Amino acid sequence: MNSEVLKVVKFGGSSLADAAQFRKVADIVRAEESRRYVVPSAPGKRFSADDKVTDLLYRCYEMASKGEDIDEVFSIITKRYDGIIADLGLEGYSLEDEYTYIRGSVIHKAGRDYVASRGEYLNGKILAEFLGYDFIDAAEVIFFREDGKFDAERTNEAMAARLAKHERAVIPGFYGAMPNDTIKTFSRGGSDITGSIVARAVQCDLYENWTDVSGFLMADPRIVKDPKVIDTITYHELRELSYMGATVLHEDAIFPVRVAGIPINIKNTNHPEDKGTMIVPSADISASEDIITGIAGKKGFSVITLEKDMMNSEVGFGRRVLEVLENEEISFEHLPSGIDTMSVILNTHAIENRKDDLVNKLCRRVKPDSITINDDLALIAVVGRRMVSAKGVAAKLLNAIAEADVNVRMIDQGSSELNIIIAVESSDFEKAMQAIYSGFVK
Ligand code: ASP
Repeated sequence: MNSEVLKVVKFGGSSLADAAQFRKVADIVRAEESRRYVVPSAPGKRFSADDKVTDLLYRCYEMASKGEDIDEVFSIITKRYDGIIADLGLEGYSLEDEYTYIRGSVIHKAGRDYVASRGEYLNGKILAEFLGYDFIDAAEVIFFREDGKFDAERTNEAMAARLAKHERAVIPGFYGAMPNDTIKTFSRGGSDITGSIVARAVQCDLYENWTDVSGFLMADPRIVKDPKVIDTITYHELRELSYMGATVLHEDAIFPVRVAGIPINIKNTNHPEDKGTMIVPSADISASEDIITGIAGKKGFSVITLEKDMMNSEVGFGRRVLEVLENEEISFEHLPSGIDTMSVILNTHAIENRKDDLVNKLCRRVKPDSITINDDLALIAVVGRRMVSAKGVAAKLLNAIAEADVNVRMIDQGSSELNIIIAVESSDFEKAMQAIYSGFVK
């Protein structure tokens, strides 16, 4: 055990769902001197039909805003915490005053984010008491700007200065303060971001993110049977996979630690002995491993196809198409083009109920010979640092998909060679994912 090493540890909702889970968390924290800063989520589900405390709090907020009585739902929440306190044997410890204050605030129409944030706040209080760590309210060290964006620099300075005064502390996840001192939360799952912010501020050696899985899987287990756990993944690869739908860690949690070059280790609270997945700034490319790091994909894309004779020599055609999209505030995913055709792949949501209008605007602006919009596309990203300059990857990919009798609608390899994106019909999505996985993974 080296006390010079410093770790920030974040525990997700399922890791703190009841007293038994709290005990596992405490064992993990106490197993290493280095685990000095702890970031908890609110209690998650104990079984699949259970409610997350955060969801119950949102429900209280909705009820209060309609003038309905919140007591029944609010007491489910307080019972949950009181159950944890009693089962942990924290004699004489009580959150009664906090409950009274929070209940009053909810009834008097406190903001939605304030109400939601109390899940982490109360859990943090109990965890700090149980561990014997200091409690630091995140509202005193995490700041948002007037426009609602996270204020990274102000937060980093304040957090570093504050934590320098605390040898060991619990900092609740998910929320911070606006310039006018009201509470604001990150988006759902945002305690991952808090952990990353704390990790950066104390310049730790490792940010451990404890959850209920033993790391990232190479593919979605609902689609691919028993996918392997990813041993090591770079920030960049993870960003590509998260963007395409792989979840476990909040997408925005990567940025603070990335700035500081701190690795993240995804670990399983229920199996602490498992190595989990390491997320690192850069990684060696060893020949013995699988060539791809992971596969992820999403349904729900559309393609707009424009055709026009001699399009290739019409200067500014592409710019004008994109200008129409920009004016409509529609972002696009890919722009595959042929000699006299140009296609734009975008999220179906973004053009829902506005297709006719968009077609009219495009017709007026670029006068195409034909324009069509097709829905029901799925995009699949095949990601891997070992693909860079490896030969035959695209051939292998297309072969695997052809053998599964799936038609590829588009293929796009980014110039970084870190990923290849393909588009297939939504109905072929699962089949294509399975074919790619078995084509690449031994
Ligand atoms: N409790 C919040 C949520 O359910 C934040 C988190 O768990 O990270 O989204």
